[in-house]
Amino acid sequence: MRKKMVAGNWKMNMTPSQAVKLAKELKPKVDTNEVDVVFCVPAIDIVPVVNELKDSGIKVGAENMFYEEKGAYTGELSPEMLIDAGVTYVIIGHSERRQYFHETDEVINKKMRKAIEHKLLPILCCGESLEQREKGVTIEFIKKQIASAFKYIPPENVINCVIAYEPIWAIGTGRVATAEQAQEVCEAIRGSIRDIYGAVVAERIRILYGGSVNAANASQIFSMPDIDGGLVGGASLKPEFADIVNYNKK
Ligand code: PEP
Repeated sequence: MRKKMVAGNWKMNMTPSQAVKLAKELKPKVDTNEVDVVFCVPAIDIVPVVNELKDSGIKVGAENMFYEEKGAYTGELSPEMLIDAGVTYVIIGHSERRQYFHETDEVINKKMRKAIEHKLLPILCCGESLEQREKGVTIEFIKKQIASAFKYIPPENVINCVIAYEPIWAIGTGRVATAEQAQEVCEAIRGSIRDIYGAVVAERIRILYGGSVNAANASQIFSMPDIDGGLVGGASLKPEFADIVNYNKK
């Protein structure tokens, strides 16, 4: 049985003082053994949020990192910096980074390998555009994204990675994929992992759905057989996040 995970992606929201306030408010409501909870926060919020959550089971994630060890890369953050600051997970390949910062599949693969080398756990994002869905090439496209992201990564390092299926047309739009649409793609993603790494790895790796998850739709989406929880953007900044984490307690 895979343990469910709910990860919040705060994106470019929350100053350090706002971040501490939000973490303090959410902490008692989302600190549970039943679900792995992660707050993926802006870089400047990592240290104060780690500090605020230190006596809880909630993990902190970064929203991005660079694939080099150190040096002349102004503005970037290395995996060693993230680890030292108390980060456990790192989002890699979010569609906003692919779209606005031109991250290619090759760059994403380099980040995956570097994160794993440092024992940071990647939350790898994949997802199709509306145009691709309408053309009927969704599964083919996602399989390519997965194969490319995991290139050169050995099976023992894949088990603890997390994949987030996030259809671009559903992110921040309020237009959520149906549970069946999400399941279809998550099943195909697990199939890709099975093809590359075999059944044991495929059964263990967690696959999340992301795209307008909220308190009203979480429980239906998370009940699908290949969906192990959610990556939550907008709703992770609200008290509603606690209802998503506690989706099975209604
Ligand atoms: C995201 O940014 O990862 C996301 C899923 O956003 P939202 O929940 O706002 O659609």
